[in-house]
Amino acid sequence: MSFKGIAINYDYCTGCHSCEVACRVEHGYPDDQGGIVVVQVGPWQIGEDKYQYSFMPIITDQCDLCASRTAEGKDPTCVHHCQAFVMKYGSVDELAKDLDQNPKTVLYSLA
Ligand code: SF4
Ligand code: SF4
Repeated sequence: MSFKGIAINYDYCTGCHSCEVACRVEHGYPDDQGGIVVVQVGPWQIGEDKYQYSFMPIITDQCDLCASRTAEGKDPTCVHHCQAFVMKYGSVDELAKDLDQNPKTVLYSLA
């Protein structure tokens, strides 16, 4: 049986932090903890009055893949609340098939 995981197309991550908030609320984590943390790099100046940010959501050891939600057939709450629809939950085998069509995507194999 394939592991389950989460794929994130970070190229389109806006850094909105909704995934972090959703995870904390779902699990009752304090503000400085969570199953997902969005790291911001930048701003870097890339032209006159032009700045670039990069965002990378990192899944931590506090992630239980929303076991109670996924047992009911629901998406993990971070995936459900992603404002930019850049997160996808599923079997690692299936998620991996999309990787060569989706550059700047990370795949977390979790359980
Ligand atoms: S899958 Fe659930 S526990 Fe894991 S990071 Fe997302 S919201 Fe948090
Ligand atoms: S909710 Fe989606 S768009 Fe917002 S920070 Fe998390 S991964 Fe990025």
